[in-house]
Amino acid sequence: MTQVTEAPLAGKVALITGASSGIGAAAAHVFARQGAVVVVTARREGRLRELVAELRDTGAEASFHVADVRDGEQSRQAVEYVVQRYGRLELAFNNAGAGIEKVPMHLTDDAAYDHVMETNVRGVWNCLRHEIAAMLRTGGGAIVNTSSVGGLVASSTAAPYIASKHAVIGLTKAAAVEYAPHGIRVNAIAPGLTRSEMVEQWFAVNPEAEKRAYASAPQARAADPEEVAEAAAWLCSDKASFVTGATLAVDGGRTAW
Ligand code: NAP
Repeated sequence: MTQVTEAPLAGKVALITGASSGIGAAAAHVFARQGAVVVVTARREGRLRELVAELRDTGAEASFHVADVRDGEQSRQAVEYVVQRYGRLELAFNNAGAGIEKVPMHLTDDAAYDHVMETNVRGVWNCLRHEIAAMLRTGGGAIVNTSSVGGLVASSTAAPYIASKHAVIGLTKAAAVEYAPHGIRVNAIAPGLTRSEMVEQWFAVNPEAEKRAYASAPQARAADPEEVAEAAAWLCSDKASFVTGATLAVDGGRTAW
């Protein structure tokens, strides 16, 4: 029997933020495997350089641009880099994000609030606006923003994170409604617990936390970053052509409970 190799993103030019580790790095591999030209961005240049080398070893077209998403000008330059180099931007996965130390709300300091809001909300805002501007020039595109189960339901001692990820869903819906007539789809994913490096380190020193976390999800495990990345790639692909303004939970059933 003939092996069918699917390349739903063939020839599409994609920008992935927060690609130096975790879900973003996995997405770079998934998008490239599905045929996309991939530009990865984050702050850690060494990680991005290694990732691009890995992608090119597989035969993919890939490059990187260092940017801090909290900075509007750096975000604009990241988009501009893609357009200058490849002539267009068709797909964007706004995945950069910061977690927060768990502290009761009344004891959380303003600096922790500001950090998480600047990264998770202003970061998506900064990228989204410039990506939309670029897509408008070339007739449309698809954007996926990374929210969280924390954008759908609350948990205690992480109020700024919960607020920031709810805001990501708000930005997603606003952009979807405003730009649907221009051929731009905008969706969000809401990952549940995912095995990023930070999560692995936390479990290594706190095995009880791992057991507790699994007890709150019907599938009773954490996601592999690639499982989350696959959902983002699907939303970016034409297979999701009638999906916009949606938030796809990728959480092993956590928010269905
Ligand atoms: P991760 O490995 O820590 O990845 C976070 C990424 O964001 C890194 O590439 C980091 O790169 C980048 N980043 C952080 N601050 C940035 C900034 N100011 N400017 C540019 N890039 C920045 O963790 P992850 O789990 O893959 O997280 C990816 C996304 O998934 C985040 O939005 C997170 O909130 C969300 N999420 C994660 C989970 C989970 O359980 N892991 C669950 C739900 C949602 P640099 O440090 O190199 O800049």
